[in-house]
Amino acid sequence: MRVCEICNAKKEDRIIAGMSICNNCFTRLQGLRNGNEDDLLFFRDPINVSKFSHNAKEYIDEVATDIEKSHRTAEEIIIERKRMQEDEMEKQEYARSLIGLYEYAVETILNEDHGCVDAKRMTELINKRAREGWKLHTVYSNELGKNALKVLGLVENSTACEDVLVFERKLMDK
Ligand SMILES: [Zn+2]
Repeated sequence: MRVCEICNAKKEDRIIAGMSICNNCFTRLQGLRNGNEDDLLFFRDPINVSKFSHNAKEYIDEVATDIEKSHRTAEEIIIERKRMQEDEMEKQEYARSLIGLYEYAVETILNEDHGCVDAKRMTELINKRAREGWKLHTVYSNELGKNALKVLGLVENSTACEDVLVFERKLMDK
């Protein structure tokens, strides 16, 4: 059995332009033709190219060069992505220097039948979290629809809601 001339997998699912290729690489090749940037980067990655057969190298270079003429070149995409990543790192650093780092946790309390808030359970939960350094950040109530009631095994014509509590805790700055 022949191997895929693009990724060297031991699969020959189809023949494209005289090359045997696997379905995975065929999907990627279609992506390349449609101008998908991740697929272009895949076919321009030197590590991947080193696995291509001679035929595949020529064929893919031709397709990729065509696409790069009408879209962006792999090099331009890499530069742009690196710039965006650096931008994002800068924003994160700035935000951290101003407000510090926090983590969040979500808890839900189900209120069956009566549909009113279970104040005792909620108080216990908030206090338990507070002892662990969490602060209540947001709380809202979510009236459950028929499907949710079914999933929870509750009677469909009962009213139930869940309280959603979002807790916040300050992290040590690194
Ligand atoms: Zn393949």
